[in-house]
Amino acid sequence: MTDIKAIDKQYVANTYARFPVELVSGKGSLVYDEKGKEYIDMGSGIGVTAFGTADDEWQQAVIAQLSKLQHMSNLYYTQPCAILAKMLCEETGMKKVFFTNSGAEANECVIKAARKYACDKKGPECYTIVTLENSFHGRTITTLAATGQEHYHELFQPLTPGFVYAKANDFEDVKAKALENNAAAIMMECIQGEGGVIPLEPDFVKAVADFAKKEDILLIFDEVQTGNGRTGELYAYMNYGVEPDMVSTAKGIAGGLPLGAALMGEKTEFTLGYGDHGSTFGGNPVSCAGAISIISRIDKKLLDEVKAKGQLIKDTLTGAPGVEAVTGMGLMVGIKTVKPAGDVVKECMDNGVLCLTAKDKVRLLPALNIPVDVLTKALEVIKAACA
Ligand SMILES: *Cc1c(COP(=O)(O)O)cnc(C)c1O
Repeated sequence: MTDIKAIDKQYVANTYARFPVELVSGKGSLVYDEKGKEYIDMGSGIGVTAFGTADDEWQQAVIAQLSKLQHMSNLYYTQPCAILAKMLCEETGMKKVFFTNSGAEANECVIKAARKYACDKKGPECYTIVTLENSFHGRTITTLAATGQEHYHELFQPLTPGFVYAKANDFEDVKAKALENNAAAIMMECIQGEGGVIPLEPDFVKAVADFAKKEDILLIFDEVQTGNGRTGELYAYMNYGVEPDMVSTAKGIAGGLPLGAALMGEKTEFTLGYGDHGSTFGGNPVSCAGAISIISRIDKKLLDEVKAKGQLIKDTLTGAPGVEAVTGMGLMVGIKTVKPAGDVVKECMDNGVLCLTAKDKVRLLPALNIPVDVLTKALEVIKAACA
């Protein structure tokens, strides 16, 4: 038998500390390893397989597009790209979409658009973007600079200049940093995902939104992880009753194919013009066809189910032995455990449940359509592992 783990260890770059599990197939919220062992997937590829593995409707949409046209250059019009952009704008009130292949690239796009907008409107000294401490915005040199966590920065100096970090939920700090630095934009995750599943406080988000509007500083939400139905709204900012100028998203948008999107509102819809930005693969027809299948099914009914399942997780785990706190919204959940999070995840894995971690928390990002009985079964295993 081919030892995939050994081959991977020898030939794949050493950047991932993989769990000792090789996954080969799946259906819905169940996945199987090479020995046929079944796992309930509570991570969905870090919030990517929005409707689980090999979802029938998604698969048909993808195969249909794959057999027509798998790629075409952005020099030409293609149907899935245009239809998906229309759908995203109609659902959010945003005006235009730039498609990318990943979350980091979606953030690169909103950062470029923010710099150009502020330079055009206010002058070249207005380039700084205020982000939050403990944030995560990606792994490129610029999105690392946007990420407000020192330990990601250390090895890769010098990073792109033009980012300052304010304390989350401290409006005065955001305001001071924005004014001192002639900020072009303020960029935040509504729920800090990699930072430990920590939601921003509603009053803080509202105050930042009002301030940004008044000062003509762009308000950007990084919805790479929180977007596409994850929190019980199509985008997490919708839980806060505020209107961003730009939104970046990726992860779950195409149900498991690489796609990111930068959504631009009224202020920035014409900021990027011909030749200002581009991508060879961005807006790939197969990825967009997958995304149309996903986004068209994130309706009120599904979102209500996401909220209800999130509540079920909170009700089951809050106050359980070994559980200190449960944070998050909808199906983006962090569990602060007495035991180290890594130990809990390992025990869950041994017992057939795949979970994630985020900082010191166990993190759950199951498929949006995970059946309640499957979720209940997974929660029993998680609860036992926490105790
Ligand atoms: C995952 C993530 C990113 C980076 O996305 P990639 O597709 O890995 O480039 C950026 N921002 C947030 C909030 C994320 O969770």
